[in-house]
Amino acid sequence: MSMDMTEIQKIWASVIKQIKTEIPESSFNPWIAPLVPKSYEDGKFCVLTGQSFAIQFLRLKKYTNLIEDTLSKELGGHVEFEILCDEQLEKKQIKQFQKFLAQEEQNEKNETSKYDNLKKMQSAPKLNLKYKFENFVVGENTKFAYAASTSVAKTPGEKYNPLFIYGGAGLGKTHLMQAIGHYCLYHHPELKVKFVKTEEFVNDLIASIHKGMDKNAGMSAFRQKYRNVDVLLIDDIQFIEGKERTVTEIFNTFEALHNAGKQIVITSDREPKYIQNLPDRLRSRFEWGLMVDVQPPDLETRMAILCKLARNDNITLPPEVTEFLAKTYSNNVRELEGAYNRVTAYVGVCNIELNIDSVKQILNISDTEKQIMLDDVVNTVADYFKIPAKDIKSQTRSQKLANARQIAIYICRELTDFSLNEIGTFFERKHPTIIYSCEKIQEDMQTNTALKNIVNEIIKKLKN
Ligand code: ADP
Ligand code: MG
Repeated sequence: MSMDMTEIQKIWASVIKQIKTEIPESSFNPWIAPLVPKSYEDGKFCVLTGQSFAIQFLRLKKYTNLIEDTLSKELGGHVEFEILCDEQLEKKQIKQFQKFLAQEEQNEKNETSKYDNLKKMQSAPKLNLKYKFENFVVGENTKFAYAASTSVAKTPGEKYNPLFIYGGAGLGKTHLMQAIGHYCLYHHPELKVKFVKTEEFVNDLIASIHKGMDKNAGMSAFRQKYRNVDVLLIDDIQFIEGKERTVTEIFNTFEALHNAGKQIVITSDREPKYIQNLPDRLRSRFEWGLMVDVQPPDLETRMAILCKLARNDNITLPPEVTEFLAKTYSNNVRELEGAYNRVTAYVGVCNIELNIDSVKQILNISDTEKQIMLDDVVNTVADYFKIPAKDIKSQTRSQKLANARQIAIYICRELTDFSLNEIGTFFERKHPTIIYSCEKIQEDMQTNTALKNIVNEIIKKLKN
Protein backbone atom coordinates (compact mmCIF):
# COMPACT_ATOMS: atom_id res chain seq x y z
CA MET A 1 0.00 0.00 0.00
CA SER A 2 1.40 3.39 -0.82
CA MET A 3 0.01 6.82 -0.19
CA ASP A 4 0.29 10.18 -1.79
CA MET A 5 2.74 12.67 -0.38
CA THR A 6 0.25 15.11 1.11
CA GLU A 7 -1.38 12.28 3.02
CA ILE A 8 2.03 11.17 4.31
CA GLN A 9 2.89 14.69 5.38
CA LYS A 10 -0.41 14.99 7.17
CA ILE A 11 0.18 11.81 9.08
CA TRP A 12 3.64 12.89 10.10
CA ALA A 13 2.33 16.30 11.13
CA SER A 14 -0.21 14.63 13.36
CA VAL A 15 2.40 12.32 14.89
CA ILE A 16 4.71 15.23 15.58
CA LYS A 17 1.93 17.08 17.27
CA GLN A 18 1.15 14.16 19.53
CA ILE A 19 4.69 13.38 20.59
CA LYS A 20 5.69 16.97 21.04
CA THR A 21 4.02 17.03 24.42
CA GLU A 22 5.93 13.97 25.56
CA ILE A 23 9.46 14.90 24.61
CA PRO A 24 11.52 17.69 26.14
CA GLU A 25 12.01 20.63 23.84
CA SER A 26 15.76 20.25 24.13
CA SER A 27 15.45 16.95 22.30
CA PHE A 28 12.48 17.73 20.15
CA ASN A 29 13.66 20.92 18.53
CA PRO A 30 17.07 19.83 17.27
CA TRP A 31 16.37 16.18 16.44
CA ILE A 32 12.73 15.61 15.69
CA ALA A 33 11.39 18.86 14.32
CA PRO A 34 13.79 18.78 11.31
CA LEU A 35 12.79 15.26 10.24
CA VAL A 36 11.13 15.19 6.85
CA PRO A 37 8.61 12.49 5.93
CA LYS A 38 9.62 10.48 2.91
CA SER A 39 7.36 7.52 2.26
CA TYR A 40 4.86 5.08 3.65
CA GLU A 41 4.92 1.73 1.94
CA ASP A 42 4.26 -1.88 2.93
CA GLY A 43 3.72 -0.97 6.54
CA LYS A 44 6.95 0.99 6.78
CA PHE A 45 7.00 4.71 7.45
CA CYS A 46 10.21 6.42 6.44
CA VAL A 47 11.56 9.84 7.36
CA LEU A 48 14.78 11.61 6.47
CA THR A 49 17.33 13.37 8.59
CA GLY A 50 20.30 15.41 7.53
CA GLN A 51 22.33 14.49 10.61
CA SER A 52 23.34 10.86 11.03
CA PHE A 53 23.65 11.34 14.79
CA ALA A 54 19.89 11.90 15.05
CA ILE A 55 19.28 8.22 14.30
CA GLN A 56 21.47 7.04 17.15
CA PHE A 57 20.16 9.63 19.52
CA LEU A 58 16.49 8.93 18.92
CA ARG A 59 17.03 5.20 19.28
CA LEU A 60 19.02 5.60 22.43
CA LYS A 61 16.33 7.72 24.01
CA LYS A 62 13.69 5.22 22.84
CA TYR A 63 11.92 8.03 21.02
CA THR A 64 11.83 5.81 17.96
CA ASN A 65 9.57 3.46 19.91
CA LEU A 66 7.29 6.28 20.89
CA ILE A 67 7.14 7.43 17.29
CA GLU A 68 6.46 3.92 16.09
CA ASP A 69 3.60 3.48 18.57
CA THR A 70 2.09 6.81 17.69
CA LEU A 71 2.32 6.03 13.99
CA SER A 72 0.75 2.62 14.52
CA LYS A 73 -2.11 4.19 16.33
CA GLU A 74 -2.54 6.90 13.77
CA LEU A 75 -2.61 4.37 10.95
CA GLY A 76 -4.54 1.72 12.83
CA GLY A 77 -2.14 -1.21 12.66
CA HIS A 78 1.45 -2.05 13.31
CA VAL A 79 3.80 0.29 11.47
CA GLU A 80 7.55 0.01 11.24
CA PHE A 81 9.38 3.27 11.60
CA GLU A 82 12.65 4.02 9.88
CA ILE A 83 14.93 7.02 9.82
CA LEU A 84 17.29 7.35 6.90
CA CYS A 85 20.15 9.72 6.74
CA ASP A 86 20.37 11.85 3.66
CA GLU A 87 23.37 14.13 3.88
CA GLN A 88 22.03 15.98 0.87
CA LEU A 89 18.85 16.82 2.72
CA GLU A 90 18.67 20.48 2.23
CA LYS A 91 17.58 23.24 4.48
CA LYS A 92 15.09 24.04 1.79
CA GLN A 93 13.26 20.73 2.15
CA ILE A 94 13.14 21.07 5.89
CA LYS A 95 11.84 24.59 5.56
CA GLN A 96 9.21 23.43 3.11
CA PHE A 97 7.92 20.82 5.45
CA GLN A 98 7.86 23.23 8.33
CA LYS A 99 5.82 25.57 6.23
CA PHE A 100 3.45 22.70 5.63
CA LEU A 101 3.22 22.15 9.38
CA ALA A 102 2.39 25.78 10.01
CA GLN A 103 -0.32 25.62 7.37
CA GLU A 104 -1.77 22.47 8.93
CA GLU A 105 -1.92 24.17 12.27
CA GLN A 106 -3.76 27.10 10.80
CA ASN A 107 -6.23 24.78 9.06
CA GLU A 108 -6.83 23.00 12.26
CA LYS A 109 -7.57 26.22 14.07
CA ASN A 110 -10.11 27.14 11.41
CA GLU A 111 -11.59 23.72 11.57
CA THR A 112 -11.90 23.85 15.34
CA SER A 113 -14.00 26.96 15.24
CA LYS A 114 -16.05 25.43 12.44
CA TYR A 115 -16.47 22.37 14.62
CA ASP A 116 -17.53 24.39 17.62
CA ASN A 117 -20.25 26.05 15.63
CA LEU A 118 -21.45 22.82 14.20
CA LYS A 119 -21.48 21.26 17.58
CA LYS A 120 -23.85 23.91 18.75
CA MET A 121 -26.03 23.55 15.70
CA GLN A 122 -26.32 19.83 15.76
CA SER A 123 -28.82 18.28 18.09
CA ALA A 124 -26.79 17.15 21.07
CA PRO A 125 -25.42 13.75 20.13
CA LYS A 126 -24.88 12.98 23.83
CA LEU A 127 -21.33 11.91 23.43
CA ASN A 128 -18.98 11.87 26.37
CA LEU A 129 -16.02 14.07 25.53
CA LYS A 130 -13.66 11.67 27.22
CA TYR A 131 -14.52 8.85 24.88
CA LYS A 132 -12.25 9.72 22.00
CA PHE A 133 -9.73 7.65 20.10
CA GLU A 134 -6.89 9.71 21.61
CA ASN A 135 -7.88 8.55 25.08
CA PHE A 136 -8.12 4.91 24.17
CA VAL A 137 -5.19 2.66 24.96
CA VAL A 138 -4.82 -0.05 22.36
CA GLY A 139 -3.60 -3.45 23.50
CA GLU A 140 -3.67 -6.95 22.06
CA ASN A 141 -7.15 -7.24 23.52
CA THR A 142 -8.65 -4.41 21.51
CA LYS A 143 -6.45 -4.02 18.48
CA PHE A 144 -8.97 -5.39 16.00
CA ALA A 145 -11.87 -3.52 17.53
CA TYR A 146 -9.79 -0.35 17.49
CA ALA A 147 -8.66 -0.82 13.89
CA ALA A 148 -12.21 -1.55 12.75
CA SER A 149 -13.55 1.47 14.64
CA THR A 150 -11.02 3.90 13.19
CA SER A 151 -11.65 2.52 9.75
CA VAL A 152 -15.40 3.00 10.11
CA ALA A 153 -14.86 6.49 11.49
CA LYS A 154 -12.76 7.42 8.48
CA THR A 155 -15.14 6.04 5.87
CA PRO A 156 -18.58 5.83 7.45
CA GLY A 157 -21.09 3.73 5.53
CA GLU A 158 -18.51 2.41 3.14
CA LYS A 159 -16.60 -0.48 4.57
CA TYR A 160 -17.92 -2.37 7.54
CA ASN A 161 -21.63 -1.91 7.87
CA PRO A 162 -22.82 -2.61 10.44
CA LEU A 163 -19.86 -2.71 12.77
CA PHE A 164 -20.79 -4.95 15.67
CA ILE A 165 -18.59 -4.65 18.76
CA TYR A 166 -19.14 -7.18 21.53
CA GLY A 167 -17.52 -8.22 24.80
CA GLY A 168 -17.76 -8.10 28.58
CA ALA A 169 -18.64 -5.14 30.77
CA GLY A 170 -16.24 -2.26 31.17
CA LEU A 171 -13.93 -3.21 28.33
CA GLY A 172 -14.31 -0.13 26.16
CA LYS A 173 -17.20 -0.85 23.81
CA THR A 174 -19.06 2.37 24.51
CA HIS A 175 -15.79 4.26 24.46
CA LEU A 176 -14.90 3.01 20.97
CA MET A 177 -18.41 3.58 19.70
CA GLN A 178 -18.48 7.16 20.88
CA ALA A 179 -14.98 7.72 19.56
CA ILE A 180 -16.38 6.91 16.12
CA GLY A 181 -19.05 9.51 16.76
CA HIS A 182 -16.54 12.18 17.78
CA TYR A 183 -14.31 11.45 14.86
CA CYS A 184 -17.20 11.72 12.41
CA LEU A 185 -18.43 14.98 13.93
CA TYR A 186 -14.97 16.44 13.70
CA HIS A 187 -13.80 15.16 10.36
CA HIS A 188 -17.10 14.92 8.51
CA PRO A 189 -19.02 17.78 10.08
CA GLU A 190 -21.75 17.51 7.47
CA LEU A 191 -22.81 14.13 8.84
CA LYS A 192 -25.57 13.68 11.40
CA VAL A 193 -24.47 11.43 14.20
CA LYS A 194 -26.83 9.87 16.69
CA PHE A 195 -25.89 7.89 19.76
CA VAL A 196 -28.59 5.96 21.56
CA LYS A 197 -28.64 3.43 24.36
CA THR A 198 -30.95 0.56 23.54
CA GLU A 199 -32.94 1.19 26.71
CA GLU A 200 -33.50 4.75 25.63
CA PHE A 201 -34.64 3.56 22.23
CA VAL A 202 -37.11 1.23 23.93
CA ASN A 203 -38.48 3.98 26.18
CA ASP A 204 -38.70 6.39 23.33
CA LEU A 205 -40.58 3.84 21.28
CA ILE A 206 -43.05 3.11 24.06
CA ALA A 207 -43.65 6.82 24.58
CA SER A 208 -44.28 7.29 20.87
CA ILE A 209 -46.71 4.43 20.71
CA HIS A 210 -48.72 5.88 23.57
CA LYS A 211 -48.56 9.46 22.49
CA GLY A 212 -52.09 10.80 22.89
CA MET A 213 -54.68 10.38 20.16
CA ASP A 214 -52.46 10.86 17.23
CA LYS A 215 -50.47 7.69 17.25
CA ASN A 216 -49.30 8.05 13.71
CA ALA A 217 -47.76 11.43 14.33
CA GLY A 218 -45.93 10.04 17.36
CA MET A 219 -44.53 7.13 15.41
CA SER A 220 -43.54 9.14 12.43
CA ALA A 221 -41.65 11.61 14.61
CA PHE A 222 -39.93 8.65 16.22
CA ARG A 223 -38.94 7.18 12.86
CA GLN A 224 -37.79 10.52 11.58
CA LYS A 225 -35.54 10.86 14.57
CA TYR A 226 -33.72 7.59 14.04
CA ARG A 227 -33.73 7.42 10.28
CA ASN A 228 -32.74 10.92 9.46
CA VAL A 229 -29.12 10.30 10.44
CA ASP A 230 -25.89 9.32 8.71
CA VAL A 231 -24.25 7.50 11.55
CA LEU A 232 -26.38 5.64 14.08
CA LEU A 233 -24.67 4.30 17.19
CA ILE A 234 -26.76 1.81 19.17
CA ASP A 235 -25.30 0.88 22.53
CA ASP A 236 -25.99 -2.38 24.40
CA ILE A 237 -28.30 -4.01 21.90
CA GLN A 238 -28.65 -7.08 24.15
CA PHE A 239 -31.41 -5.14 25.91
CA ILE A 240 -33.79 -5.82 23.06
CA GLU A 241 -33.95 -9.39 24.27
CA GLY A 242 -37.62 -10.38 24.45
CA LYS A 243 -38.94 -6.97 23.35
CA GLU A 244 -40.84 -7.82 20.21
CA ARG A 245 -41.98 -4.40 19.20
CA THR A 246 -38.49 -2.98 19.62
CA VAL A 247 -37.03 -5.78 17.57
CA THR A 248 -39.37 -4.91 14.70
CA GLU A 249 -38.60 -1.23 14.95
CA ILE A 250 -34.85 -1.79 15.08
CA PHE A 251 -35.16 -4.06 12.09
CA ASN A 252 -36.99 -1.39 10.10
CA THR A 253 -34.57 1.31 11.17
CA PHE A 254 -31.69 -0.93 10.21
CA GLU A 255 -33.16 -1.62 6.78
CA ALA A 256 -33.86 2.02 6.06
CA LEU A 257 -30.39 3.17 7.06
CA HIS A 258 -28.47 0.31 5.55
CA ASN A 259 -30.26 0.62 2.23
CA ALA A 260 -29.40 4.29 2.16
CA GLY A 261 -25.72 3.51 2.78
CA LYS A 262 -25.72 5.01 6.27
CA GLN A 263 -23.33 3.72 8.89
CA ILE A 264 -24.62 1.63 11.78
CA VAL A 265 -22.52 0.70 14.78
CA ILE A 266 -23.83 -1.66 17.43
CA THR A 267 -22.41 -2.83 20.74
CA SER A 268 -23.49 -5.80 22.78
CA ASP A 269 -22.24 -7.78 25.73
CA ARG A 270 -22.34 -10.91 23.56
CA GLU A 271 -22.53 -12.16 20.00
CA PRO A 272 -25.86 -11.91 18.17
CA LYS A 273 -26.28 -15.67 18.24
CA TYR A 274 -26.41 -15.58 22.04
CA ILE A 275 -29.06 -12.88 22.23
CA GLN A 276 -32.21 -14.81 22.98
CA ASN A 277 -35.30 -14.69 20.80
CA LEU A 278 -33.54 -12.59 18.22
CA PRO A 279 -35.24 -13.29 14.88
CA ASP A 280 -32.91 -14.74 12.26
CA ARG A 281 -33.49 -11.86 9.89
CA LEU A 282 -32.15 -9.41 12.46
CA ARG A 283 -29.34 -11.65 13.66
CA SER A 284 -28.09 -12.19 10.15
CA ARG A 285 -28.13 -8.45 9.51
CA PHE A 286 -26.08 -7.80 12.63
CA GLU A 287 -23.58 -10.28 11.24
CA TRP A 288 -23.53 -8.76 7.75
CA GLY A 289 -20.76 -6.32 8.28
CA LEU A 290 -17.92 -6.91 10.68
CA MET A 291 -18.07 -8.38 14.16
CA VAL A 292 -15.18 -7.63 16.48
CA ASP A 293 -14.74 -8.47 20.12
CA VAL A 294 -13.04 -6.71 23.00
CA GLN A 295 -11.23 -8.84 25.55
CA PRO A 296 -9.97 -7.99 29.04
CA PRO A 297 -6.66 -6.15 28.81
CA ASP A 298 -3.40 -7.79 29.82
CA LEU A 299 -1.28 -6.41 32.65
CA GLU A 300 0.84 -4.13 30.45
CA THR A 301 -2.22 -2.63 28.83
CA ARG A 302 -3.84 -2.08 32.20
CA MET A 303 -0.73 -0.30 33.37
CA ALA A 304 -0.69 1.77 30.21
CA ILE A 305 -4.31 2.77 30.83
CA LEU A 306 -3.42 3.95 34.34
CA CYS A 307 -0.41 5.87 33.05
CA LYS A 308 -2.57 7.57 30.48
CA LEU A 309 -5.13 8.57 33.11
CA ALA A 310 -2.36 9.89 35.34
CA ARG A 311 -0.76 11.79 32.51
CA ASN A 312 -4.05 13.44 31.62
CA ASP A 313 -4.49 14.45 35.23
CA ASN A 314 -0.89 15.56 35.57
CA ILE A 315 -0.31 13.12 38.38
CA THR A 316 2.70 10.90 38.89
CA LEU A 317 1.80 7.43 40.02
CA PRO A 318 4.69 5.54 41.60
CA PRO A 319 5.38 2.47 39.42
CA GLU A 320 4.65 0.03 42.25
CA VAL A 321 1.25 1.64 42.77
CA THR A 322 0.48 1.41 39.06
CA GLU A 323 1.40 -2.22 39.08
CA PHE A 324 -0.52 -2.95 42.23
CA LEU A 325 -3.69 -1.38 40.88
CA ALA A 326 -3.30 -3.08 37.53
CA LYS A 327 -2.85 -6.44 39.21
CA THR A 328 -5.76 -5.98 41.56
CA TYR A 329 -8.30 -4.93 38.94
CA SER A 330 -7.79 -7.31 36.13
CA ASN A 331 -10.92 -7.80 34.11
CA ASN A 332 -12.83 -4.58 33.94
CA VAL A 333 -11.37 -1.24 32.92
CA ARG A 334 -14.26 0.62 34.49
CA GLU A 335 -13.35 -0.86 37.86
CA LEU A 336 -9.69 -0.14 37.30
CA GLU A 337 -10.55 3.45 36.52
CA GLY A 338 -12.86 3.62 39.52
CA ALA A 339 -10.04 2.53 41.80
CA TYR A 340 -7.70 5.06 40.21
CA ASN A 341 -10.28 7.81 40.74
CA ARG A 342 -10.85 6.92 44.35
CA VAL A 343 -7.15 6.79 45.08
CA THR A 344 -6.25 10.03 43.35
CA ALA A 345 -9.23 11.88 44.78
CA TYR A 346 -8.31 10.76 48.25
CA VAL A 347 -4.68 11.65 47.90
CA GLY A 348 -5.60 15.03 46.46
CA VAL A 349 -7.78 15.87 49.43
CA CYS A 350 -5.84 14.30 52.28
CA ASN A 351 -2.37 14.99 51.07
CA ILE A 352 -0.97 11.60 52.03
CA GLU A 353 1.84 9.79 50.34
CA LEU A 354 0.93 7.44 47.57
CA ASN A 355 2.26 3.94 48.14
CA ILE A 356 0.93 0.41 48.19
CA ASP A 357 -0.03 0.61 51.86
CA SER A 358 -1.98 3.83 51.56
CA VAL A 359 -3.66 2.56 48.39
CA LYS A 360 -4.72 -0.64 50.13
CA GLN A 361 -6.19 1.42 52.90
CA ILE A 362 -8.06 3.73 50.61
CA LEU A 363 -9.45 0.83 48.63
CA ASN A 364 -10.21 -1.26 51.67
CA ILE A 365 -8.04 -4.12 50.56
CA SER A 366 -6.65 -6.21 53.36
CA ASP A 367 -3.98 -8.85 52.97
CA THR A 368 -5.81 -11.50 54.86
CA GLU A 369 -9.13 -10.77 53.31
CA LYS A 370 -11.38 -13.73 53.71
CA GLN A 371 -13.05 -15.00 50.59
CA ILE A 372 -16.65 -13.80 50.61
CA MET A 373 -19.12 -16.27 49.15
CA LEU A 374 -22.34 -15.53 47.30
CA ASP A 375 -24.40 -17.07 50.08
CA ASP A 376 -22.76 -14.76 52.61
CA VAL A 377 -23.90 -11.78 50.60
CA VAL A 378 -27.48 -12.98 50.27
CA ASN A 379 -27.68 -13.82 53.98
CA THR A 380 -26.28 -10.48 55.05
CA VAL A 381 -28.57 -8.54 52.75
CA ALA A 382 -31.58 -10.58 53.93
CA ASP A 383 -30.56 -9.94 57.51
CA TYR A 384 -30.27 -6.23 56.93
CA PHE A 385 -33.71 -5.95 55.34
CA LYS A 386 -35.22 -8.52 57.70
CA ILE A 387 -36.54 -10.71 54.94
CA PRO A 388 -36.08 -14.45 54.38
CA ALA A 389 -32.91 -15.19 52.43
CA LYS A 390 -34.70 -17.49 50.03
CA ASP A 391 -36.97 -14.65 48.90
CA ILE A 392 -34.02 -12.76 47.51
CA LYS A 393 -33.39 -15.48 44.98
CA SER A 394 -37.10 -16.04 44.27
CA GLN A 395 -38.88 -14.67 41.22
CA THR A 396 -41.10 -12.38 43.30
CA ARG A 397 -41.09 -8.88 41.92
CA SER A 398 -42.25 -6.76 44.86
CA GLN A 399 -40.39 -3.47 44.99
CA LYS A 400 -38.73 -4.19 48.29
CA LEU A 401 -37.49 -7.61 47.23
CA ALA A 402 -36.37 -6.40 43.84
CA ASN A 403 -34.38 -3.67 45.48
CA ALA A 404 -32.74 -6.02 47.99
CA ARG A 405 -31.98 -8.40 45.16
CA GLN A 406 -30.30 -5.74 43.07
CA ILE A 407 -28.22 -4.67 46.03
CA ALA A 408 -27.19 -8.27 46.66
CA ILE A 409 -26.21 -8.74 43.02
CA TYR A 410 -24.25 -5.52 43.04
CA ILE A 411 -22.35 -6.48 46.17
CA CYS A 412 -21.61 -9.95 44.79
CA ARG A 413 -20.10 -8.33 41.76
CA GLU A 414 -18.09 -5.85 43.82
CA LEU A 415 -16.82 -8.10 46.57
CA THR A 416 -16.39 -11.55 45.10
CA ASP A 417 -14.37 -12.94 42.26
CA PHE A 418 -17.33 -14.76 40.72
CA SER A 419 -18.03 -14.01 37.09
CA LEU A 420 -21.25 -12.47 35.84
CA ASN A 421 -22.29 -15.86 34.57
CA GLU A 422 -21.66 -17.53 37.90
CA ILE A 423 -23.58 -14.81 39.71
CA GLY A 424 -26.38 -15.18 37.14
CA THR A 425 -26.59 -18.92 37.71
CA PHE A 426 -26.60 -18.40 41.43
CA PHE A 427 -29.46 -15.90 41.32
CA GLU A 428 -31.20 -17.91 38.58
CA ARG A 429 -31.22 -14.87 36.37
CA LYS A 430 -29.97 -13.98 32.95
CA HIS A 431 -26.72 -12.25 32.33
CA PRO A 432 -28.28 -8.87 31.28
CA THR A 433 -30.33 -8.76 34.45
CA ILE A 434 -27.14 -9.09 36.45
CA ILE A 435 -25.43 -6.33 34.50
CA TYR A 436 -28.50 -4.15 34.74
CA SER A 437 -28.71 -4.59 38.52
CA CYS A 438 -25.06 -3.70 38.99
CA GLU A 439 -25.24 -0.62 36.82
CA LYS A 440 -28.50 0.54 38.33
CA ILE A 441 -27.23 0.38 41.90
CA GLN A 442 -23.94 1.94 40.90
CA GLU A 443 -25.74 4.80 39.19
CA ASP A 444 -28.35 5.29 41.88
CA MET A 445 -25.70 5.42 44.57
CA GLN A 446 -24.22 8.48 42.97
CA THR A 447 -27.31 10.53 43.76
CA ASN A 448 -29.00 8.56 46.50
CA THR A 449 -27.01 8.85 49.72
CA ALA A 450 -29.41 6.70 51.70
CA LEU A 451 -28.83 3.85 49.30
CA LYS A 452 -25.10 4.41 49.39
CA ASN A 453 -25.13 4.18 53.18
CA ILE A 454 -27.13 0.97 53.11
CA VAL A 455 -24.74 -0.63 50.64
CA ASN A 456 -21.71 0.47 52.62
CA GLU A 457 -23.24 -0.75 55.82
CA ILE A 458 -23.84 -4.20 54.34
CA ILE A 459 -20.34 -4.32 52.87
CA LYS A 460 -18.90 -3.44 56.26
CA LYS A 461 -20.85 -6.24 57.90
CA LEU A 462 -19.67 -8.69 55.28
CA LYS A 463 -16.06 -7.77 55.79
CA ASN A 464 -16.15 -8.26 59.54
P1 ADP B 1 -18.22 -1.05 28.00
O1 ADP B 1 -19.09 -0.20 27.15
O2 ADP B 1 -17.50 -2.11 27.23
O3 ADP B 1 -18.93 -1.62 29.19
P2 ADP B 1 -16.84 1.44 28.47
O4 ADP B 1 -16.56 1.80 27.06
O5 ADP B 1 -17.94 2.15 29.14
O6 ADP B 1 -17.07 -0.16 28.60
O7 ADP B 1 -15.49 1.57 29.30
C1 ADP B 1 -15.49 1.67 30.72
C2 ADP B 1 -14.49 2.71 31.16
O8 ADP B 1 -13.18 2.25 30.90
C3 ADP B 1 -14.63 4.01 30.39
O9 ADP B 1 -14.40 5.09 31.26
C4 ADP B 1 -13.55 3.95 29.34
O10 ADP B 1 -13.05 5.21 29.02
C5 ADP B 1 -12.48 3.11 30.03
N1 ADP B 1 -11.74 2.28 29.07
C6 ADP B 1 -12.08 1.04 28.63
N2 ADP B 1 -11.16 0.56 27.80
C7 ADP B 1 -10.20 1.50 27.70
C8 ADP B 1 -8.96 1.60 26.98
N3 ADP B 1 -8.52 0.59 26.21
N4 ADP B 1 -8.23 2.72 27.12
C9 ADP B 1 -8.65 3.71 27.92
N5 ADP B 1 -9.79 3.69 28.63
C10 ADP B 1 -10.57 2.60 28.52
MG1 MG C 1 -21.09 0.27 27.45
